[in-house]
Amino acid sequence: MEVTFLGTGTAFSAGAYNASILVDRALLLDAGAPLCVHLPRAGVPLTGPRAVFLTHFHADHTFGLASLMLGRALLPDQGGPLLVVGPAGTREYLVQLLDLAWGDEMRQLTWERLQVTVTELGHEGSLQVAGYRVRAFEMTHTSRFPCLGYVLENERVRLGYTGDSEVSPNLDSLLSSCDHVIAEMTYAEPGQMHLSRVDILQLMKAHPGVRFMLTHRGTDQAVDGAVLARDFLTLRLPLS
Ligand SMILES: [Zn+2]
Ligand SMILES: [Zn+2]
Repeated sequence: MEVTFLGTGTAFSAGAYNASILVDRALLLDAGAPLCVHLPRAGVPLTGPRAVFLTHFHADHTFGLASLMLGRALLPDQGGPLLVVGPAGTREYLVQLLDLAWGDEMRQLTWERLQVTVTELGHEGSLQVAGYRVRAFEMTHTSRFPCLGYVLENERVRLGYTGDSEVSPNLDSLLSSCDHVIAEMTYAEPGQMHLSRVDILQLMKAHPGVRFMLTHRGTDQAVDGAVLARDFLTLRLPLS
């Protein structure tokens, strides 16, 4: 499994782009980065992603999708159908996002040309996509709308992704279901709505079999035994 970080900053980082991770050049975890620039820079055309997994509806995880989708729809060849997976409300959110960005006519054109399908998952919901088994875990982040983390599994790797999350029993379930995890680390010290470096150290201790890759970085302080992700870092999993 190959993982490329297209954005590793927090919502308001000055030195890194917003959240997006490309898996095996075919799946996107969140879509906050400027994808019309960052996908080609990573060597992947706009038609590359077959599915996008949204963890929640905050701008730093979703606003890259509006340009990616219409940009792809306007190409002579749009590639295959696009699946968008997310928590309850994803379909409505996506319609609103495209309407606001481009108007309803362009939204309809995008939807048709990309053959968009939306799958909304709840806690412990699962689906099969392009040879991966994907499971969703409800995360604690904001009370305004549901937030998910995911575990993507193929025959060799079980990759977890926390999205934005506080420490919670469901986060522990997610970590117990994976061998590698892309975890957010927004703060140095514990705070609300997000994980901190202190939380990460405790989670690593509680889940010694899991390799941590840290993103949504609000601190550049290293964590022994974990990878601090940077924009455009590519890793091959399993990590040796
Ligand atoms: Zn965020
Ligand atoms: Zn958020």
